[in-house]
Amino acid sequence: MQSFSPTIRWAGLSHVGRQRPRNEDVFHVLEEQACAVLADGMGGHRGGDVAARIAVEQACAWLQPRLADPAAMLAQRLCEAAEQANLAVLAAAERERGLIGMGATLLLAVLRPGRLIYASVGDSRLYRFRSGGLAQLTRDHTMLQDLVDGGMITAEQARLAPFRGMLTRALGVMPGVEADAGEVDLCTGDLLLLCSDGLTDMLDDDTIAGLLAEGDTLEEQAAALVQGANRAGGRDNITVVLARAD
Ligand code: CA
Repeated sequence: MQSFSPTIRWAGLSHVGRQRPRNEDVFHVLEEQACAVLADGMGGHRGGDVAARIAVEQACAWLQPRLADPAAMLAQRLCEAAEQANLAVLAAAERERGLIGMGATLLLAVLRPGRLIYASVGDSRLYRFRSGGLAQLTRDHTMLQDLVDGGMITAEQARLAPFRGMLTRALGVMPGVEADAGEVDLCTGDLLLLCSDGLTDMLDDDTIAGLLAEGDTLEEQAAALVQGANRAGGRDNITVVLARAD
């Protein structure tokens, strides 16, 4: 198996937050293959965490033998992984009545020399932090984002709206799911942030950028983000995965 670069460092942290009874976020990093997967589960009495776990496990299992494919094929591979994860979540819900209605977001990111390839379903986000500037790479699949894109409301109004969580796309809803895939360049020193909405509902982009700029290590930065979201209320589970290309 081709491994990418020993100079990518990772840190991941998931916290239940201050108001939810359990953590329905799941993440996994395939360090050898420079790939991270994050899912934010929802629905049912215990369905959310099950959906997120199945989504991450299935995506990783399906991707692992395919991450050695040429970089030009990886965006397609990530979309296929999302389809496979979707089918696995649906199949599990069909097998067990108590899990009906469960769903999850899915965010996938792969680092390769000079480039970052990603795919997303739902409202978990991928950011690139470069030279003090934070850029959101993914687009939320939410009703609110549609309103923002249509010019009906501003991004700041959206962040404070009560129905932030309403997704227009998720795993576990329909037999087919279309992930949005993208690709950007990656430079030495770039910092990548994958996160669940428990972070971004609590902290705006400027605050996130400030916390990233202050931390000396990835572990410190991840802890500062989780702490910041909890200080702001911790209304939802908070998950952050950081990767640094050195
Ligand atoms: Ca969430």
